[in-house]
Amino acid sequence: MSLYDKTAYELSEMLSKKEISSRELTADVFQRIDAVEDLTNAYVTLTREEAMDRAAEIDQKRAEGEELSPLAGIPIGIKDNICTKNIRTTCSSKMLENFVPPYNATVMERLQKDGIVIPGKLNMDEFAMGSSTETSYFKTTKNPHDLTRVPGGSSGGSASAVAAGECIAALGSDTGGSIRQPASLCGIFGLKPTYGSVSRFGLVAFASSLDQIGPIGRSTKDLAMLYGAICGHDHYDATTAYREYPDFLKEINTAVAKDMVIGLPKEYFNGIDPQVEEKVREAIKTLEGCGVRFKEISLPSTEYALSAYYIIASAEASSNLARFDGVKYGYRTENYTGLTDMYEKTRSEGFGDEVKRRIMLGTFVLSSGYYDAYYKRAKLFQKQVVAEFNQAFEGCDLILTPTSPVTAFKIGENIGDPLKMYMSDVCTVTVNIAGLPAISIPCGKDDKGLPIGLQLIGPKFSEQALFNMSELYEMESGFSYEMPLK
Ligand code: GLN
Repeated sequence: MSLYDKTAYELSEMLSKKEISSRELTADVFQRIDAVEDLTNAYVTLTREEAMDRAAEIDQKRAEGEELSPLAGIPIGIKDNICTKNIRTTCSSKMLENFVPPYNATVMERLQKDGIVIPGKLNMDEFAMGSSTETSYFKTTKNPHDLTRVPGGSSGGSASAVAAGECIAALGSDTGGSIRQPASLCGIFGLKPTYGSVSRFGLVAFASSLDQIGPIGRSTKDLAMLYGAICGHDHYDATTAYREYPDFLKEINTAVAKDMVIGLPKEYFNGIDPQVEEKVREAIKTLEGCGVRFKEISLPSTEYALSAYYIIASAEASSNLARFDGVKYGYRTENYTGLTDMYEKTRSEGFGDEVKRRIMLGTFVLSSGYYDAYYKRAKLFQKQVVAEFNQAFEGCDLILTPTSPVTAFKIGENIGDPLKMYMSDVCTVTVNIAGLPAISIPCGKDDKGLPIGLQLIGPKFSEQALFNMSELYEMESGFSYEMPLK
């Protein structure tokens, strides 16, 4: 019996009933990695020995009757911009190629306490800038549903690994869509949590006001389990909210979901691939069949969201990435003639083209004379987006849109055209600008067999409602994940 293709929820039951051990499960996942990793390129670093030791430790605890968390013993892959103590954390950049953090990100502390097994660190776009994983310094990850195509990005390694069975679930990070878009392109589930519900301590910052860490998995329940384990206040991150969170998994309730009203913003259905639209509309029909009501709404700011996102995200990135200067840690150029030359060469050699593009754009929009024209206006626009969403949520419980306007594109197809690449995020960036939670759910395939995803957006801290609706759709549509590369 193979185990790598089961969900975290199923495996958690099997582990707690002692039908399987974590060692068997972890060995099975590594066997799968050995079989397909050369095809997918999902991992930057594999930590086989540590993972097997950890699995044995968890099995021992279980044998001794210790009470364990539902995630104990389950292999969860980690995006390579989340600091893992004593495990190299590269952000898929030459700049951090040999960086081994002396500490854990808060989410890692929490997951370690819960006894997860870490099979390794997952590839991504360099510093999470991109939508295809092609900007990684190391390699391009491939979509397991079609190896000539991208898995999406920037959490493409996370999505590809989960989709190919190279880990059971994974953590990604989402600044403008980097969890949802790759989840959609790989046919799996991904949650971008409410801003301030998950600690960013130890997440290498891209755009601090937009970044959130979140789960990627093969079922709604897996996301609920993983999100429940990482959310909550953290005194190391002052932007995390003080509040109580429910036991999301236990509280999943599809009956409440049936009574909900969902808004369909007409702007999000403009200019998307007709096959994507068709599948999203079919999903709407399925939910309507259960009693969910739909109404058309309008979010007119959508048109300007991408422009505002690229101004805000780049501005913050240019400031956050100033720390990589060859002095403190990370790459330093070999030959230089003084401090300024060292800075220049280190940064020219250490960063890739996309990262440089963002730093230049960010520095430009923050410079005197342009600040008011660009950055300040983008920040004002942000207020407008928040107000529009607030108003929309007065008339509906959730909002439904496609996650990505297109299915997985060919490797190399968009990488030479940044503006085309940026279009990948047209349905996802508003959520980050407004700090809202959103989930991407698989809802079918196009005629090439490429996965399509829909996005549900909720008010702040409405993750439970998102899980309820996602579970309802998962049940009603009879979803069962079909593992590729069998
Ligand atoms: N693709 C978007 C970008 O390049 C989003 C990235 C992200 O969410 N990390 O900025």
